[in-house]
This record gives sequence, C-alpha cells and structure tokens, in this order.
Amino acid sequence: MTMVLALVEHEEGRLAETSQQALTLARDLADQEDAPLAAVVFEDDDEQVGFELASYGVTELYRVEHDRLDRYAPDARAATVHQLVDEHDPEAVVAPGSDRGHDVLGRAAARLGVPMAANCVEVTAGDGYEVTRHRWGGSLLEHARIDGSPALLSVAQHEVAAEEAEDGGSLTEHSFTPTLADSDLLVGIDRIEESDEEGVPLEEARVVVGGGRGVGGPEDYDKLEELADLLGGTVGASRAAVNEGWRPHDDQVGLTGAKISPDVYIACGISGAVQHMVGCKGAKNILAINTDPEAAIMENGEYAVVGDLHEVVPAITEAIREG
Ligand SMILES: Cc1cc2nc3c(=O)[nH]c(=O)nc-3n(C[C@H](O)[C@H](O)[C@H](O)COP(=O)(O)OP(=O)(O)OC[C@H]3O[C@@H](n4cnc5c(N)ncnc54)[C@H](O)[C@@H]3O)c2cc1C
Repeated sequence: MTMVLALVEHEEGRLAETSQQALTLARDLADQEDAPLAAVVFEDDDEQVGFELASYGVTELYRVEHDRLDRYAPDARAATVHQLVDEHDPEAVVAPGSDRGHDVLGRAAARLGVPMAANCVEVTAGDGYEVTRHRWGGSLLEHARIDGSPALLSVAQHEVAAEEAEDGGSLTEHSFTPTLADSDLLVGIDRIEESDEEGVPLEEARVVVGGGRGVGGPEDYDKLEELADLLGGTVGASRAAVNEGWRPHDDQVGLTGAKISPDVYIACGISGAVQHMVGCKGAKNILAINTDPEAAIMENGEYAVVGDLHEVVPAITEAIREG
C-alpha cells in the first residue's frame, strides 16, 4: 500500500467545504489501510492551503505546476491524475462530489480504464472496497463493491461531517509537472463572468428561503428576499419556479440543482416533490409554508404552517423585526 490520494478544491487559500468532507473520508480510508494521505492541488501558490491540508491529516502534498494550467481544464487535470497514479500507485483516489470533482474523476477513470464509484458516504477497505453510495440524489443508498486499482471514489456532498485530524501536523510538499498534450487543453474555462447575484452562495447559506410555484410570479420573491436578508440567508427556488423564468437556474434546489445544508430551510409554496427534497434533505430544520395540508413537504418538515405564503412570510418578517 502506497497512499490514498485526495483531489481538493480551494479558493483564496481556503479549502472548499466539500473538499474538507472528502478529506475526512479519505483520511478514514488511509487509516484503515495504514497508509499516508496525500493531496493534489492545482492553481495554487498560497501556502495557507498547505497548513489547512496538514490539519486534515495530509502528509504529502503535490502542487501541480504547468504554465498551461492556469485555468480549469478537466482533461488536463485527469491527465495529471493519471500520471500521478502511474508514478505513485495509490490504492485509492478520492475527490469531492462536486461538479469539478466528478468531471475530473470520471475522465481519469476513462483514461486509467478503472471503475469509479460516485457519491460515496462510507467506504470499507478489504478485498476491494465496500462502498455505500447515493443513488437518485440520495433517495436510495446502494451497497456495492468496487474492484480495480486504484479505486476511484467521490464523496457525496454534505454527507460526511468534515473533521480535522487529531494528530494533524506537518506535510512534505512536492512540485509535480505533468506532460500535457494540446488535446488535454481543448476543454477549459475561457473566462469567468461574475453572477449578478449578491449575498451568500446557496450551498453555504445557514438560512435558505425557498420559493416554488406557489409564490405565483417573480415580483413576489421580494417578500422572500426581505426575510432572507433579515436572517442573513439567501433565496432558493424549485424547478417549477425556475422553469417559469421567475428565478435563475443558480437558485434551483434539488436533484438537478444545488444541494443545500442550512440550519433552517423555509420552503414557501413548494409541494415537496422527491426531486426537490433530495436537494434540501441536508437542512437541519425545515419550515414548510403551504396552503395544502396534504402537500408532501408538510410531512418532511419539522415545522409547518398551513396558510397563504403571501400573508405568512410578511408576518414572520414583521415578528422578527419587532423582536
Ligand atoms: C429528472 C427530474 C429532475 C428534477 N429536478 C428538480 C430539482 O432539481 N428541483 C426541483 O425543485 N424540482 C425538480 N424536478 C421537478 C419536481 O418533480 C417538481 O415538479 C417541482 O419540484 C415542483 O415545484 P413546486 O413544488 O414549486 O410546484 P408545485 O408542485 O406546483 O407545488 C406548488 C405548491 O405551492 C402550494 N401553494 C400554492 N399557492 C400557495 C400559496 N399562496 N401559499 C402557500 N402555498 C401555496 C401548493 O399547495 C403546492 O404544494 C425534477 C423533475 C424531474 C423529472
């Protein structure tokens, strides 16, 4: 056994929360295998990430350096993973279950000719790896065995609590320069346009006020915005509301949208279809506001108000203001 290799994402010197979660599972796997935990970072010259990685138990850090890798290019990253695997023969490669994590790991699996298990929540090393993983956005748990070397595993978002290592300390840094072909750089980020949206990103918000078809039109989201602002949160939406053109797709919560894990999710005029619920089941508390007492969301939520959101939401806002 040589190592468990983790792919991580970071911004402005801070690890993404989903990477902290992936590192926690990867460290557990490394402990099971009595192997060191290594990590690979791209596009970074900030030593802060190294400190944070060490606190998660990483002892070997590969900083990828290449003059053509100044932007996200999934095939180039997959080629890098392939070359790191050839050189170090890790038993497993673990990535966050983010869009980029899946993008890179899937391409690496194709290059390496090995299977990949996506959205794992638990992994046990033995004869191959026994995995428990999410299917259907988490509404189904699958127990499976993955053979192949290395085992490629992504970690379901917000399902493994991020925990720093008890004995996290120092790490050894290595610089790694992959050999890249022009074809590895065909797909990549060309430019980044900042979103008009202000405030906390949905995935990180501690309070989300979600609006569905029951909101009735784009203008009535003002009431939801007002409540969200007051609580330091942000507004989300159901797919029905997005399809109506009332909210941008970035706001969508669910199977084909964002997976949120706030302390409180206030779902207004949302029926609670399974495809919506898989996006918000990480919420610690759900308050449903719906005119229909039989709506599925009323059973899923910890708290429910049967009533018209156009009256209930302003009443909550006013009550909070009055303190
Ligand atoms: C492959 C696939 C992927 C999907 N992915 C997603 C996804 O990512 N996210 C997602 O949300 N959906 C997704 N859907 C769609 C999903 O199945 C539902 O159609 C959608 O979530 C319904 O949105 P809604 O609850 O806003 O609308 P509706 O189901 O129309 O519900 C509206 C609710 O508002 C209530 N209401 C009406 N007026 C008021 C009022 N004045 N006050 C209070 N309550 C009121 C009604 O009682 C009702 O419960 C997906 C579907 C498929 C097939």
